[in-house]
Amino acid sequence: MIKLQPDIHKADLQICNNCIYDERVNGIHFDEEGVCNYCHQIDDLKDQYGTGQKKGEDQFAAIVEKVKKSGKGKKYDCIVGVSGGTDSSYMLYLSKQLGLRPLAVHYDNTWNSAIATENIRKVLSALDVDLYTHVTDNKEADDIFKAFFKASVAEIEASTDLALAETMYRAASKYGIKYVFEGHSFITEGITPVGRNYFDGKYIKSIHKKYGSMKMKTYPLMTFSRFLYWTVFKRIKKIRPFWYINYNKEEARAFLEKEYDWKYYGGHHLENRMTAFFHSYYMPIKFNTDFRNNTLSARVRMGKTTREEAWKEYNTEPHLEEDLLNYFKKRLGLSEEEFQRIMDLPPKSWYEFPTYKKRFELLRPLFFTLAKANLVPMSFYLKYCFPAKKNK
Ligand SMILES: [Zn+2]
Repeated sequence: MIKLQPDIHKADLQICNNCIYDERVNGIHFDEEGVCNYCHQIDDLKDQYGTGQKKGEDQFAAIVEKVKKSGKGKKYDCIVGVSGGTDSSYMLYLSKQLGLRPLAVHYDNTWNSAIATENIRKVLSALDVDLYTHVTDNKEADDIFKAFFKASVAEIEASTDLALAETMYRAASKYGIKYVFEGHSFITEGITPVGRNYFDGKYIKSIHKKYGSMKMKTYPLMTFSRFLYWTVFKRIKKIRPFWYINYNKEEARAFLEKEYDWKYYGGHHLENRMTAFFHSYYMPIKFNTDFRNNTLSARVRMGKTTREEAWKEYNTEPHLEEDLLNYFKKRLGLSEEEFQRIMDLPPKSWYEFPTYKKRFELLRPLFFTLAKANLVPMSFYLKYCFPAKKNK
């Protein structure tokens, strides 16, 4: 059992009256009714996208028609990024149901659990979908992870998210595909506020340069110019179908288990060991932050659980796989003492290192136009193009 720092879950906090975000959430403020700005943001997005209503469904149907048209004469219509998790597996099924010809894309950071790898294989073979994978050399991938750990910053697994984005663009470009589908749902996940979870190519490069020991060779780094190349020049669009249509994660999971013998990894991000370390140990212990409030708040907003139940669950210790810490130390070549010494270093923040953040803010009007045209996700615009409220 891990011991959380004493003040991580204390009761005398202001908590939103509509979800379980509390005053420690970055950039939070409450209205006269005690409802937080993130609840309002989700309501606004629901209105704007018509999520789960006729408006949203019609819009999505129109997008699907465009996707089909753009894929005429090509082998594939769209890219679906896969991790072996619920959202991306279901997204593959959905795209086949819609009569699309998806190409599945996976970024392998070499920390996948066996369950994830098996899930990907099962779903792809049942749906007869091809897979494009980018595998970074495992020593290099570990060198990047270790650099983030040594830097004492929170975004220890950011290199995976950005690499998947770059890998999807590369696959799209290789096959002339104009649409990338992402399994994100602001309803089931919420939009996590920028605070301690920022990343971009410059950030990854600068951390790795300072704290890494190898050359970056096989890692697919998305620099600013590559980002503009994919979005402005290649005009590859990013679509998040669950922003338009109704999506029920529990039902999707049950369906996948029944249809494809897909296995659930227990809701603890066990599809990937680095993700599991990040959520169940690193963030709670070193950064006093427990991201389970995102999904729990989403469940409260959807009426699937009460605030009381969710708050109670949030205040339990995160589940930690037995051998995870040993695996982490062993893979990164850290002795017990070294691991503890780094864990005990004072936390640092992304804004202490070079990033593209200022450039994103300066180019806000451009990114608004790109977001409106689905060339970058709207959540990128909302999160990255405005000054972030720094952690207290
Ligand atoms: Zn709220």
